[in-house]
Amino acid sequence: MRRDPRFVIVGAGMAGILSAVKLKEAGLSDFVVYEKADRLGGTWRENTYPGIACDVPSHLYSYSFAPNSDWSHVFSPGAEILSYLEDVARRFDVQRLVRYGTEVERMQFQDGRWHIDTTSGPDVADVVIAATGVLHHPSYPDIEGIDSFDGPIFHSARWDHDVALEGRRIGVVGTGSSAIQITSALVDTVGELYLFQRTAQWIFPVANPAIDEADRARFGSDPTAMSELREHLGQLFEENLANAVVDADSPQIHRLEEMCSLNLEESVGDPELRERLRPDYRAACKRLIASPDFYQAIQRPNAHLVTDDIDRIEPEGIRMQSGCLHELDVVVLATGFRVDRFMRPIEVLGRNGVSLDEVWAERPSAYLAISVPEFPNLFMLNGPNGPVGNFSLIDVAEMQFGYVMQLVDLVRDGRCGEVSASREAAERFEADRVEAAKKTIWMTGCRSWYLDDRGVPAAWPWTFGRFREEMAGPNLADYELV
Ligand code: NAP
Repeated sequence: MRRDPRFVIVGAGMAGILSAVKLKEAGLSDFVVYEKADRLGGTWRENTYPGIACDVPSHLYSYSFAPNSDWSHVFSPGAEILSYLEDVARRFDVQRLVRYGTEVERMQFQDGRWHIDTTSGPDVADVVIAATGVLHHPSYPDIEGIDSFDGPIFHSARWDHDVALEGRRIGVVGTGSSAIQITSALVDTVGELYLFQRTAQWIFPVANPAIDEADRARFGSDPTAMSELREHLGQLFEENLANAVVDADSPQIHRLEEMCSLNLEESVGDPELRERLRPDYRAACKRLIASPDFYQAIQRPNAHLVTDDIDRIEPEGIRMQSGCLHELDVVVLATGFRVDRFMRPIEVLGRNGVSLDEVWAERPSAYLAISVPEFPNLFMLNGPNGPVGNFSLIDVAEMQFGYVMQLVDLVRDGRCGEVSASREAAERFEADRVEAAKKTIWMTGCRSWYLDDRGVPAAWPWTFGRFREEMAGPNLADYELV
């Protein structure tokens, strides 16, 4: 006899919607998705800054079970991705299973089940799927005087659309993917754009053409053409980026470095500006930025690259350590995210009251990025140290979900009541991961959000092929079944 467990899914972003669709498809109906906001979409709901797009091609950054023939661009804008996610939720009829405006505050494993406190009341689940995202909590810079600025000042992930930008003096702090897209999108709208660069970035040249009507119609009428395109993009991505970054000596990474270097040489005419834009570390050491137009944008007459160190923020603008004050009307903090949060601030208590905060006191970790010892029947999608940044996270989450369901089947089949990674397996995995990370490009000498407090990349250091193999099915010897 199969037992139908009750599931709670935390978060209605890309991974939460995926989980709901897949549970429904598996004939499981006893579940709810808790979403603290009043709309689904996760990162695509929260990040609405001008120029936002995904730098994974749209035909790859989509669910395998819901291809979309209508993508407008090779790299479609964020709003389109959000509509796509909403459309999938509607089409697969999972919208109604999302409990909006409900934040999960606490989860405790007791008597074989998860007891969950939410802002809408308590719940109990046999299985919890944490689909809480990776880059979720904005990181605000510790700059003196940040609260003293006279004008609007906001984080890139909290864009204030009420603030008029036309003709005004805008300061953008940071040169990550967000800042680069904002710069390109805003430079022709604003009066003056000051880009405050602490570290120069390599820019990988990509074209972002519109997908014309004829191609969209062809994809609509010929699903095979679309799946072939997806497969082709997946292969390109995997061979030339995903597998390149995990081997700092691979021919692919050298080719990628050459392309970035050539892009800088060919795109930036002024030798002085070119040198200020030239990073002093290897391309893809930091998360590689792909942009069709950043170098053009930063060479506009009203764009100013500021490379002195920031001293403080004052009511009128940003004061540099050189003493120079850049007077500004609006400041955008494109300063990234707190990358070690995952499920937190939810208070999560596993077997015998062990707290996740304590287990993760040094840094977050999980066996295969999915399961934490002593936290049975709790599975993370896009959890700590997984394949972030160089893969389609949708593909990653789909594979992880398939893997998790094989563990859940053990419970459904009555083979066990509780399943979690064994301590030995989790420790071995972590040790192997740290060792493998040494030969990745991420450890070749740069500061980046990939690196944890020890300077070890908090990411999957192996090929995507290896990830696929691992996700094909759990090795039960690595799990504790109770
Ligand atoms: P990020 O890559 O973490 O960049 C943060 C930027 O802020 C860095 O340039 C950093 O400088 C700077 N910064 C931080 N604190 C500062 C301070 N106190 N003073 C001056 N500068 C400071 O953040 P992000 O751009 O939001 O991107 C995060 C990740 O989200 C990306 O790597 C990517 O994975 C994802 N993302 C993807 C897309 C896309 O698909 N196109 C778009 C946006 C984001 P340092 O470099 O010196 O640390």
